[in-house]
Amino acid sequence: MSASHPHDRWIVLKFGGTSVSRRHRWDTIGKLAKKRAEEHQARVVIVVSALSGVTNELTAIADGAADSAQRIAALEARHREFLAELELDAEAVLGERLAALRALGSDPRAGSRALDWQAEVLGQGELLSSTIGAAYLAGQGLEIGWCDARQWLSALAIPNQSAWSQRLSVSCDAQGSEELRAAFSQQPTRVLISQGFIARHADGGTAILGRGGSDTSAAYFGALLKARRVEIWTDVPGMFSANPREVPDARLLTRLDYFEAQEIATTGAKVLHPRSIKPCRDASVPMAILDTERPELPGTSIDGSVEPVPGVKAISRRNGIVLVSMEGIGMWQQVGFLADVFALFKKHGLSVDLIGSAETNVTVSLDPSENLVNTDVLAALSADLSEICRVKVIAPCAAITLVGRGMRSLLHKLSDVWATFGKERVHMISQSSNDLNLTFVIDEADADGLLPILHGELIDSGAMPVEDDTVFGPRWREINGAVRPRATPWWQVQRSRLLELAQAGTPRYVYHLPTVRERARALAAIAPIDQRYYAIKANSHPMLLRTLVEEGFGLECVSYGELQRVFEAVPELSPRRVLFTPSFAPRAEYEAAFGLGVTVTLDNVEALQRWPEVFRGRTLWLRVDLGHGDGHHEKVNTGGKASKFGLSAARVDEFVAAARALDITLTGLHAHLGSGVEAEGHWRLMCDELAGFARRIGTIEIIDIGGGLPIPYHADDEPFDLDAWAKGLEEVKAVHPAFRLAIEPGRYLVAEAGVLLAAATQVIEKDGIRRVGLDAGMNALIRPALYDAWHDIANLSRLEEQDTASFDVVGPICESSDVFGRRRKLPATTAPGDVMLISDAGAYGYSMASTYNQRDLPKEEVLDV
Ligand code: ADP
Ligand code: ASP
Ligand code: MG
Repeated sequence: MSASHPHDRWIVLKFGGTSVSRRHRWDTIGKLAKKRAEEHQARVVIVVSALSGVTNELTAIADGAADSAQRIAALEARHREFLAELELDAEAVLGERLAALRALGSDPRAGSRALDWQAEVLGQGELLSSTIGAAYLAGQGLEIGWCDARQWLSALAIPNQSAWSQRLSVSCDAQGSEELRAAFSQQPTRVLISQGFIARHADGGTAILGRGGSDTSAAYFGALLKARRVEIWTDVPGMFSANPREVPDARLLTRLDYFEAQEIATTGAKVLHPRSIKPCRDASVPMAILDTERPELPGTSIDGSVEPVPGVKAISRRNGIVLVSMEGIGMWQQVGFLADVFALFKKHGLSVDLIGSAETNVTVSLDPSENLVNTDVLAALSADLSEICRVKVIAPCAAITLVGRGMRSLLHKLSDVWATFGKERVHMISQSSNDLNLTFVIDEADADGLLPILHGELIDSGAMPVEDDTVFGPRWREINGAVRPRATPWWQVQRSRLLELAQAGTPRYVYHLPTVRERARALAAIAPIDQRYYAIKANSHPMLLRTLVEEGFGLECVSYGELQRVFEAVPELSPRRVLFTPSFAPRAEYEAAFGLGVTVTLDNVEALQRWPEVFRGRTLWLRVDLGHGDGHHEKVNTGGKASKFGLSAARVDEFVAAARALDITLTGLHAHLGSGVEAEGHWRLMCDELAGFARRIGTIEIIDIGGGLPIPYHADDEPFDLDAWAKGLEEVKAVHPAFRLAIEPGRYLVAEAGVLLAAATQVIEKDGIRRVGLDAGMNALIRPALYDAWHDIANLSRLEEQDTASFDVVGPICESSDVFGRRRKLPATTAPGDVMLISDAGAYGYSMASTYNQRDLPKEEVLDV
């Protein structure tokens, strides 16, 4: 035991519900308390939550649930069982506390659900769990004392708070005094255990800190005691860039400053109670978030000495948001209108979160975690408001927030994010004046499934700078060992050969045929697919075409030039294995294609009307636009009204009639809605829709679902799950057995088989940014400039060196978008003359290259080893 001393340094350890519900976790708690005390020669306060689920039950009882008596009995049984697991005497340890719980059930205040009674009910969970913990740890030989949090944490009276908030959602004094610290340190044991969630009301009774408030209790203890640090131990190893249970690709945030952490917590990351940061920030007490199951992981640290990193750090979601829309005739600049409106919110004890205003409308949001927003309160508010304006309540909504420094300067990177929200009904958009967040309010139902998509878009667009390892750690999925290890890419195996090829001149594309074959065979093994075509626009190198034809693929062309290329490269190819699917092609191309005997796909009625003699008596495939698209970037989304591709579904009957009149036989039906589509469900839906049309047309034999299979360009992208895809197709095929199924991928077959080699020309530092220039630019590979596409970049000359320095990798073209990647990690020694490699460039690399700025086209080379 340490001698009590006013200057004792304390460490506060807070353990959440799941961390206190199992015996082995209490063993961890005991070990951690001991370790911290020894490591830092400190004293330790353990702050605990109720056993998991208990506060929910107590809330139901406090709300006056009809079966409260049974619930109390179940709670008692639950705690007795846990004591049995801990091998403790239930009566000796908890007898009195359980009697108090039962007594609350029959308390005279229960009938009116008096607020002070509710607070006492809610506080029982933490009183029980801390009492259990004290007994168990003492039994394990730890010298530990129990203290009542209500003796030390006193609720503050905040002006204008409702009676509900003053009792059930309180804030506490975090300043304390030397006397308080001295008194606290007078307690005899080196380790103390106390309760989260509860504090002392001014009337001496119990007050509650709000759901999840135990974190804040720990922070108050930390601030009052001027603790060395506050550690929040929970069931995830830190704060993540999104709720990891919803977004498995969420990244651990290893280090945050108080302000960003505050914003992430306030906007919905339940892992930290929003009010827990300010007390620590004001008292300069560092915080950490750690995982009780995996105490060895480093977690998230939050303190005031973090170098700010611009960019989105997290995306979070709050449910149960209520929007109040107030429409007022002629309110524009009417003096005092807002004052009148807000006076009514004040009257009903409601604090407003977001605000949007227009000429005749003001809309505000109410956050249920800060307010009592039940139907009674809303009805009373609406009644008052309707005296001065027309009121509409929109609920339940979800607020989805992007958090990070410098939000305003990031807007240009958020085009995909805006586009995704654009598909939903957005009620309100709000940008915080501290430039730390951007919030979208949509219907709660629309928010489901949106976060993983948005999170991916934030990474792909560079708005979330995950490559910055001072902030971003591993993915949740990775930490859980759920990442399939990637095979070493072929170009690492072939490194010396590639370095030789680079000596013969750069920029140079190199394609690896064995990789092409591997992808081709993986697709060939998918049983429900009857016919496979390779979309040669991805890469029309003759050797790739021959290889894929040998692997059983037909070829799909979009221009007469591509048709010529196909028959030059593979003269013996039967035209029956060739598709011609042009867009807005001139008449002569259709004529030439029919002349070659290939299968032509048409996607409009106008061509039939204008050039009937070209199409009369032919066999055709029809391309339809199913009215919705998808894809890795807006520019490759090929479905929907805004897209130029495909016959509008509404005109299919008209097309069929015009075709009949010309004696045309329609045998195939095709749709291709976008590239790099990640949503697996997309394919099934598309097959179903196409089959519906095919039946109506009557002569269709084959359904072509296009391409669009994604590849994992970024380390954060999961490889496309071919097995799941195949299974989905099998199910769809079983429903529509009458039709053969065709696919026509491009990227999937060749992207990973190609790299672009370039030589570093110059390394230049400007205003703190280091750039390495290459002899290849956007003329050689346009995808980064055109689609903000990500390509990994390696210094092939220095592959064995650590990538420790950050570079922008740029080309020689006179365009500011001539950038292959920003803040890329490369060896610090990267120098002119080094051979640089841009990976996954086999698709849409050379085929989109140009001689812009009068630069030569890159060279090409094929490896077959
Ligand atoms: P405790 O009971 O330990 O207080 P909580 O359930 O209150 O734990 O908080 C931990 C949970 O917070 C995690 O299990 C996770 O589902 C959720 N969570 C939501 N957003 C985030 C985020 N951005 N990072 C980490 N966890 C989050
Ligand atoms: N037990 C309380 C709750 O579940 C407080 C906490 O766990 O943080 O809300
Ligand atoms: Mg919590």
